[in-house]
Amino acid sequence: MESCVCPYCKTVFSPSKYSPRQKICSNPECQKKRQLESMRVWRERNPNYFKYDESKGIAWLEVQRKRSKVWREKNPDKVRAYRQAHGEEYRRYMREYMRTYRLSKKKPAAPSPPASPASESL
Ligand SMILES: [Zn+2]
Repeated sequence: MESCVCPYCKTVFSPSKYSPRQKICSNPECQKKRQLESMRVWRERNPNYFKYDESKGIAWLEVQRKRSKVWREKNPDKVRAYRQAHGEEYRRYMREYMRTYRLSKKKPAAPSPPASPASESL
């Protein structure tokens, strides 16, 4: 039987015949590390899992919004710290937003809806 070296504790072990692809020894400490590692890998592969997903529906979004609002109310200092750290980014975003807004205002007004046949015949 082929033997493996555990990457965590460097112990040489023989993978069980039930899980021949086993890379980690059966030491509980190493198994725990393996689980944490696979969770980390999973999160890297699913970066959007905790973001808004339309399939979860409006109710889910509402819950997230409320949760986020409650969090902000409980952590005003963290919100302030975030705004300070991202202030320049935010100002740039608002400048760009306002510029686009003003440009859209400059466009000729949309043609008014056609007069109703009744008023035209008069
Ligand atoms: Zn090990």
